[in-house]
Amino acid sequence: MPQVLQTESEPVVDGSNLAIAVEGGHAAPPADGPPSHAGPTPGDIQPVEMESLDRFLTGLITVVPFLALILVAQQVWGQQLHWSDVIVFVIVYAITGLGVTVGFHRMLTHRSFKASPAIRGMWAAFGSMAIEGPCISWVADHRKHHAFSDQPGDPHSPHVDHGHGFKGAMGGLFHAHVGWLFLHTQRGNKERYAPDLIADPVVSWVNRTFFLWVTVGLALPFALGWLIGGTIDAALTGLLWGGLVRMLVLHHVTYSINSLCHFFGRKEFETGDESRNLAWLSILSMGESWHNSHHAFPTSAKHGMRRWQIDISAMVIGAMERVGLIWDVVKISEQRQQAKIKGTLPVAAKAAD
Ligand SMILES: [Zn+2]
Ligand SMILES: [Zn+2]
Repeated sequence: MPQVLQTESEPVVDGSNLAIAVEGGHAAPPADGPPSHAGPTPGDIQPVEMESLDRFLTGLITVVPFLALILVAQQVWGQQLHWSDVIVFVIVYAITGLGVTVGFHRMLTHRSFKASPAIRGMWAAFGSMAIEGPCISWVADHRKHHAFSDQPGDPHSPHVDHGHGFKGAMGGLFHAHVGWLFLHTQRGNKERYAPDLIADPVVSWVNRTFFLWVTVGLALPFALGWLIGGTIDAALTGLLWGGLVRMLVLHHVTYSINSLCHFFGRKEFETGDESRNLAWLSILSMGESWHNSHHAFPTSAKHGMRRWQIDISAMVIGAMERVGLIWDVVKISEQRQQAKIKGTLPVAAKAAD
């Protein structure tokens, strides 16, 4: 049956599919085997606007940070790396990285906690400075990922439509890492997947003023370099490290959640998809690489469910809760966790088949 006629079996209509996307597509998984989806309908997909411009800008932010490595190599070769560069990198990486993990992901996408308009605006602005696109598109794509996780309709699954064997695995990983950013066939429809954010005046203002936050995200490392290093030279190398190198590292850490964390690592919980917990990426990803736990309990403010699973984003959320900046933080009881425990499975699912 052509998809356009499938209106009766749409998985996500008027709010219920939004709940699936926010709270997890597999909140009530069948006891045996993965859930079956009807597949995306045209209404799930964001209509294409200015596709060439979008691809050009995506290409620019993908390639330019790599070119910056040439400047970094020259700087290191000439022994001109300053302490201020390292400090600026760490500060701006933390602000923009937490903007994505605490702001875009846990607060806006999954509503893991509630916050005042000022705090919502601050986190949405910090996330925008990461240059991973405006917040409403980011959320719509990510909610669609949860609604169709590793099934047709998932915007960035390494397991859909890439064939078998080594070539299929590499093609799938490339698509999930960066290739999907250049495709617009499975983007999440903003009206359907993010109506709450479109209706939120603060968040939609930050969304509209995206390029302002991009500029702030580059002006900040320049200013910090100047303040800490005291010279224009330190300001420029601050921009290099806190702007371009930070973008390169943060982008590829974010992309790795979509690619590596649906491919390598441990499945701790039953989720019905291929999400995995990848311990070595937990610090750089600020807790996001406990991705199987996240798919098991999408609204949970904590992704690192065990005491030893380092989750810097959850620590920041905990600190904000303790000082009263946020409230209604979603916590998952030990009992609910036990009910979904899968037991440990071997590494790298698809590489074996
Ligand atoms: Zn995922
Ligand atoms: Zn998520």
